Amino acid sequence: MHDISVATRIAAERGDGPLQVVATGHGGVPVTSGVLVTTRRLDTVRIDPDARIATIGAGARWAAVVAAAAPYGLAPVAGGSTSVGVVGYLVGGGLGPLARSHGYSSDYLVAATIVTPDAEVLTVSAEQHPDLFWAVRGGRGGFGVIAEVHIRLVELPELYAGSLTFSEEHIATVMRGWANWTAHADARATTSVVVINFPDLEDLPGHLRGRRMLRLRFAFPGAASEGEAIVKPLRDLAPALVDAVGILPIDQVARIHDDPEDAGPSWFRGFMLTHIDHDFVTTFLHAFGSGGDSTFMVVELRHLGGATAADVIGGSAVGGRSAAFSLSLGSPFPPMFPSLPAAALDVARRLERWLAPETTINLIGNRISEGRYEKSWPQDILDRLEAVRSSVAIDPPTRPVTAT
Ligand SMILES: Cc1cc2nc3c(=O)[nH]c(=O)nc-3n(C[C@H](O)[C@H](O)[C@H](O)COP(=O)(O)OP(=O)(O)OC[C@H]3O[C@@H](n4cnc5c(N)ncnc54)[C@H](O)[C@@H]3O)c2cc1C
Repeated sequence: MHDISVATRIAAERGDGPLQVVATGHGGVPVTSGVLVTTRRLDTVRIDPDARIATIGAGARWAAVVAAAAPYGLAPVAGGSTSVGVVGYLVGGGLGPLARSHGYSSDYLVAATIVTPDAEVLTVSAEQHPDLFWAVRGGRGGFGVIAEVHIRLVELPELYAGSLTFSEEHIATVMRGWANWTAHADARATTSVVVINFPDLEDLPGHLRGRRMLRLRFAFPGAASEGEAIVKPLRDLAPALVDAVGILPIDQVARIHDDPEDAGPSWFRGFMLTHIDHDFVTTFLHAFGSGGDSTFMVVELRHLGGATAADVIGGSAVGGRSAAFSLSLGSPFPPMFPSLPAAALDVARRLERWLAPETTINLIGNRISEGRYEKSWPQDILDRLEAVRSSVAIDPPTRPVTAT
């Protein structure tokens, strides 16, 4: 805490750039000026099983919280990748594999300790500095450095979850079937589909090299018998190459999305969708189905709604609550990066009629222009965020970090 205050004062005195924070580097924000604070060593996690609260240092990753809570039968509402930093994820809202049953992860934030841009140490909660508390739940940056957070844990005695992987020939059938299924899906079941274009690289296993596949992820926080009945229509769509849906120990939650563990170069751009329908699936399949474009290694659609649509009591700065789906396009190959913004723009043009007006900040992309950053919130939230930033910022105010 002391070190963060000192760094904050130095940044204010120098006045030659923003104070930037990095925990894991997963955000992929290039740092080119100003003062950089790394929170990596603030990695303590304490569990109070009676209060069902986790107290988490700013450098901790979700994996550490999941592991610490599991022996008590408790779990954080974590992200799909447990190697992502808890604080970096929470300040962006956070949509994980339990999104529809449990909502945004920042809905579970109870309090945070913040060193403000003028080096004041504040505890923010529903009772203390409620405006700042509202802002850090999804408002991302510009409020200072968070040193510690307290989050509410949930009981998760049973989790029936995992993924079904289908070969290229079944992509169209499974996409259509899944899209129809989502129209009446149980609000407690969270699903997503991802088309993966595996490159023809020698170090990949033979059955993946140069192949296109569709992975359907499923998570149901309840009894296996009920989960099995809910997933059955999806299982019946086509024979799966790999059926990895079953009873999942809560400390294995990262297996649902199976995201890369290590921070590496990546480019991704996200959008939110108001709805999907038959025409959307036709357009999507034309672009990314069998024989379609493989510019993006990963094209993901997540089904939202359910608990993601309801704001917390007292409100939060999370953007994107009204969306029904999210769409993400990504690539881990740096030589491709220069061509990807135009390719993503082309996808956005083709899908324009289904695009929601905003996209939640964590999913908007990691190399975005100032104009797109603002599309992470509806105008009323954006205005209120500006007002809260001005109330804590030194002169000139610390701006949220953006990359171009
Ligand atoms: C593999 C992968 C999977 C992902 N999956 C999901 C997902 O399922 N759902 C989802 O919602 N998001 C997802 N994300 C996006 C992720 O939540 C954001 O990129 C998040 O910001 C990463 O936080 P970090 O601390 O790991 O990264 P960092 O690069 O260390 O931090 C990112 C940003 O968080 C802010 N920040 C970090 N620490 C602090 C602090 N102590 N005080 C104030 N601000 C701070 C800063 O603005 C910083 O630039 C994923 C990202 C990756 C790489």
